[in-house]
Amino acid sequence: MSVAMPFWIAGRPATGEAELTVTNSHDGRTVGVTSVPTPEQVEEAVAAAHAVARQAAALPIHVRAEALAHVSRRIAERADELARLISGENGKPMFWARGEVSRAVSTFRFAAEETRRFSGEVVRLDTEAAATGRMAYVSRVPRGPILAISPFNFPLNLVAHKVAPAIAVGAPVIVKPAPKTPLSALVLGEILAETDLPEGMFSILPVPNDRAAALVDDPRLPVVSFTGSSPVGYAIMDQVPRKHVTLELGGNAAAVVLADADLDWAATRIALFSNYQAGQSCIAVQRVIVDELVADAFEGRLVEAVNALVTGDPADEKTQVGPLVSAEAAERVEAWVNEAVAAGAKVLAGGARDGATYAPTVLANVRKDAKVVREEVFGPVLVVQRVNGPDAAFAEVNDSAYGLQAGVFTRSLDLAFKANRELEVGGVIIGDVPSYRADQMPYGGVKDSGVGREGLRSAMDDYTYEKVMVLTGL
Ligand code: NAD
Repeated sequence: MSVAMPFWIAGRPATGEAELTVTNSHDGRTVGVTSVPTPEQVEEAVAAAHAVARQAAALPIHVRAEALAHVSRRIAERADELARLISGENGKPMFWARGEVSRAVSTFRFAAEETRRFSGEVVRLDTEAAATGRMAYVSRVPRGPILAISPFNFPLNLVAHKVAPAIAVGAPVIVKPAPKTPLSALVLGEILAETDLPEGMFSILPVPNDRAAALVDDPRLPVVSFTGSSPVGYAIMDQVPRKHVTLELGGNAAAVVLADADLDWAATRIALFSNYQAGQSCIAVQRVIVDELVADAFEGRLVEAVNALVTGDPADEKTQVGPLVSAEAAERVEAWVNEAVAAGAKVLAGGARDGATYAPTVLANVRKDAKVVREEVFGPVLVVQRVNGPDAAFAEVNDSAYGLQAGVFTRSLDLAFKANRELEVGGVIIGDVPSYRADQMPYGGVKDSGVGREGLRSAMDDYTYEKVMVLTGL
């Protein structure tokens, strides 16, 4: 039996009641063990966050910046260990796990930089005669302690995207990691505990889903920052309509390949990013919408690139596509593909399951009402849809309940701006896949893909409100 990793209450390590064992979906081995906090321990964490909120808001910027920079450095120093843990708990190949760790290093570094710039403004009010002698001093004030709920697919960097901006604005944060992947977040707790942040500034609590509702309801946590699936996200918003809730949700992201695109580049990128993390990313390419004029040439290159991907053991550094997070997840993907095939879809590549691994799959001739088109597959499945010209391509992208990001392969500046005007998404990536994300850019969706934005500066805006002080008699 492995030694149980502690979770974190108000910056201190703790052990709870029942054991929580984390296993690897590829070979079933135990990756690590932690425990579940008792209701009393959860209460202790929330009370501490509430108690420290005022002190946290007044924390000098240099203290915040130094703490954030320390966390960034220490993640870099422990990169190998963290990548192995992420790969173990999530099943993602080492290549992608290493990428996630290096992004978390950047996320904390960007927050350290951003906290030094983050400030209010002075607004002159004497633009009207009646306000002569007055001005407004506008500051940004933390809304209060943040409940950060994160998903399994980026168990470190998506926690970083909530914790780093919280520290940057001076808000205590309670992290509820995904039950399948709590371990890398717990190591982050070890690193945060090395800083000079005040007690109560952070807690990391692997509470099970059926006890998470109490945390969501708690009035001492006025902000809920949620990343996960759309049904759970909107249920949380309905549960606490008066709280400040940000939702980073799912999608069925599309890449558009227009007639002037570089087809080799487009095929290589789309093949890789429909399958990275076995398709378990909210911006993995699920639909490729290609102009008829180049569809045959593109499809051939695409299938070749998909078949060339290296599938296998996530611990092997050469593996590009590993297992899904569980065998049940792979079975669901298999069922959706089989349903599409039964309705007439053609399998151009893949289409087979082995335990938790689903082969990189390309489908054509898929009915528009198929689940693999309309819903979020969250697996290594790509649907090719042929259209006639840019207008039809952009309409097809928009024919979705979701709107997170879209990629458009074109060399035309006019078409790039047309795409930006017309696509109903939070981000348009020209010349690359929708899966492109730099951690400092605003990131989030429209429609059923959520509300609010992450990316350091955007999350800091979200976690604060503008407070005005009017000065009179100047
Ligand atoms: P999920 O919705 O099942 O779980 C997300 C988190 O919510 C987990 O921590 C889970 O334990 C918790 N949770 C579940 N039920 C809850 C409840 N009733 N109350 C409070 N918390 C509850 O999602 P998942 O399977 O972990 O992650 C995959 C989903 O996340 C996909 O839909 C994906 O698109 C989405 N995602 C979105 C983004 C983004 O930035 N937009 C990024 C990554 C993943």
